[in-house]
Formats: sequence, structure tokens, C-alpha cells
Amino acid sequence: MPTINDNFLKLKAGYLFPEIARRVAAFQAENPDAKIIKLGIGDVTEPLPEACIIAMHKAVDDQSKRGTFHGYGPEQGYAWLREKIVEHDYAARGCDIAADEIFVSDGSKCDTGNILDILAPGGGPRGNIIAVCDPVYPVYVDTNVMRGNTGPAGDAGEYGGLVYLPMTAENGFNPPLPEGKVDVIYLCFPNNPTGAVAPKAVLEAYVQYALKHDALILFDAAYEAFITDPRIPHSIYEIDGAKECAIEFRSFSKNAGFTGTRCAFTVVPKGVTGLSGSGERVGLHRLWNRRQTTKFNGVSYIVQRGAEAVYSEAGGEQVRDLVDFYLANARLITKALTEAGMEVFGGVNAPYVWVKAPDGGTSWEFFDLLLREAHVVGTPGSGFGAAGEGYFRISAFNSRDAVQRAMERIGDQLLT
Ligand code: PLP
Repeated sequence: MPTINDNFLKLKAGYLFPEIARRVAAFQAENPDAKIIKLGIGDVTEPLPEACIIAMHKAVDDQSKRGTFHGYGPEQGYAWLREKIVEHDYAARGCDIAADEIFVSDGSKCDTGNILDILAPGGGPRGNIIAVCDPVYPVYVDTNVMRGNTGPAGDAGEYGGLVYLPMTAENGFNPPLPEGKVDVIYLCFPNNPTGAVAPKAVLEAYVQYALKHDALILFDAAYEAFITDPRIPHSIYEIDGAKECAIEFRSFSKNAGFTGTRCAFTVVPKGVTGLSGSGERVGLHRLWNRRQTTKFNGVSYIVQRGAEAVYSEAGGEQVRDLVDFYLANARLITKALTEAGMEVFGGVNAPYVWVKAPDGGTSWEFFDLLLREAHVVGTPGSGFGAAGEGYFRISAFNSRDAVQRAMERIGDQLLT
């Protein structure tokens, strides 16, 4: 009989979204006429930019003819896409990133999880101490649990494990630097779920910490396109020294609506290193390249052509329009909730609005209130970690009509 990876048994049951679905289904069964509006999940609703559609149609035609047909491509992504990424996302911001430091993939969810393949697993003397923010994008925690990166009580122990950096209104949603030494730090800015962004000084402090303690920063910039404040860095590589200590994850999911089309990329600068069992410093670029060329066969030619079109003049404008559309939704949500007397965060440089549950209530109490009174569904903050208790996430990813109706109902039902 095969033996299993027991770490999977340590995962907390996928509680959050199934529990939301259960409560929504129960409410709908009791109130069959209620038109429930869902502002819970972070999935886009608007169609792809036209430039991407045109490029993908053309790429399908390429695949229909000898001479332009493409079989397996480079596992790391086509050079023409990696070069456009460098030019527009990095060189344009003064970041010295080379095309061969970019690895195109089918998603940041996979990359943020798969990156653990090249780090020592937990449960042994070489286990890493890993810091995650709290609240947190749950993928970071679950993939670490799968890899055995948990101490005896589920948190950090002798053989590595997780430590949590609280992000709350009290610290302005700037996670404090870890107490003591950690080996790996996940940062996500603009942040899911709080919608917060990190000022340059905060990122500088993290890079300084990482350089001093020989730590690795895993920087998830999936929502980078939503930054509106010109003072906020878009990339960790805008910070001096980050090329020696940080890996960055980017995705086409939220800017260009590729959640169902699938394309992302990860930047592994050649200067980022880790320690081998025999005490040598080894470049992580080499290991990630090996990992990808062994376990991944590249993103489809058609999809990479679609992603390339994001960097065309028309594509750039269309992406800007999409992002502005969701940000306008976020402003409507912020306005309605503020007028209803609630304390509201995020939503300016991110598609998520983070609300304090009124009257000191819990996240689930507010969930039930909103569902019962306004027939609106959001996501309880406690589902993202202990420090999310008492907060609630509302996603701006929906049609204008749905957001407007949801906010009118909140205004009518919850106005204090
Ligand atoms: N990173 C964060 C912080 C996210 O919120 C999400 C999706 O919601 C992802 C990554 C997933 O990105 P992708 O669609 O590229 O897998």
C-alpha cells in the first residue's frame, strides 16, 4: 500500500468558502425570492481586453499553418514575452532585471506554492522559519503545511514552521518586522485581503532585515496594477538590495482578467541564494530553472501571445480601463459603507475593501447581518487568519450594476 504525505492530514479543513456556501444556500432556501449579490471572491467579471483577444485569435491561426505552428516552447516562456515584461514592468521603473530572470508560468497560485520545492522541507534540523502576514492569502499557509513546515502546535518549532506578522488598523496594516530571525518572509502588496499597500520605507525595512538576517523575501505583487498612489513601489526591486534577497510573483489574472486564461510570471534574480546542506551558498535561480524545466512544460503559445498584447499600446490602455473600472467599484463600496457609519480600509490601491465589523462584532456576525438584511455576500476576515477577526472583505470584482444594487441595499438597510 502506498504511504501518504501525512502533512496533508494536518491541513485545516477548507472551512471558509464551504461555510460561506453553506450559509448562503441555507438563506436562499428559506428566502427563495431573495436576489443574493456575491461580492465575496477575488475573480474578475469583465471580458478580456480586446488587444489580447485579437492576439490570441491570430495565435490560433499561427497554430493552423506549417511555418508558424508552435509545439513545445521554452519552459521558461518565450523570449519575446520575457523581454516585454523586462521593458515595461522593470526597466521602465528603473529595475535592473534580465529577461532570463523571468519565468513565465500558468499562475501565481502555483508559483507561490511550488517555490517551496527548492527550499528545505520542515520537520528536520534544516527546516525554515517562515513568516507570513496575518490575515493572509491562505495558499501561503496551506502550501507550507503540505511541505511539513509546521511546528508541533502548527506554528514555529525547533524544526522550522510558521510565525505570523499581524496587520491591523492599529499598525496601519504595515506588518511589523519579525521578532528574532526568520528565514523566509511572504509579503503581498497590494494586500489580499486588507487592500493595504506598503510605503517605500516599509519595504526598505524588510529588505534591510532580509539582507541582515540572510532571509528570503517572497513578494507577491498580483495586484500591482491597482496601485494609484505614485509614491507606492510596484515592484520589490525598486528597493536597493532586493535583487540579492527577493523573489517576485506577478500575474496577468487581475490586471488583464486572465483568471480563466492563466498566465503569470516569477522573477528569480541570479543574486538570490540559499544555503545547501553542506554549507555552500547556492543560487536559487539555478534551482528554480531546474524545477521548472523538470516539472513544467511552459504556458501555451496562444496564451503567451495574449499576455504579450497586454504590453501593446492598445492593450495597455484597455488594461488601464479594466483596472479603473474595478477601482471605481471599490470607491462605490467605500462610499456606501462609510456613509453607513462603518470603518473602511483599502479599496484605493487594491480591488478589496476591508471593513471593520460594526459594534465590535465578529466577522461571521457581520457576514450574517449583511446576508440577512441586504442579501449581500462578502468574506469574513477571520477566515484569513486570527488577526482578521472582526473584519470583513468586500471584493470590487463584479459588474457595476451588481455593486450599485448591493450598495443601495446596504445604504437602505444598514444606515445608522
Ligand atoms: N496571489 C494572490 C495574493 C491572490 O489573491 C491570487 C488570487 O486570488 C493569486 C496570487 C493567484 O493568482 P493566479 O491567478 O495567477 O494563480
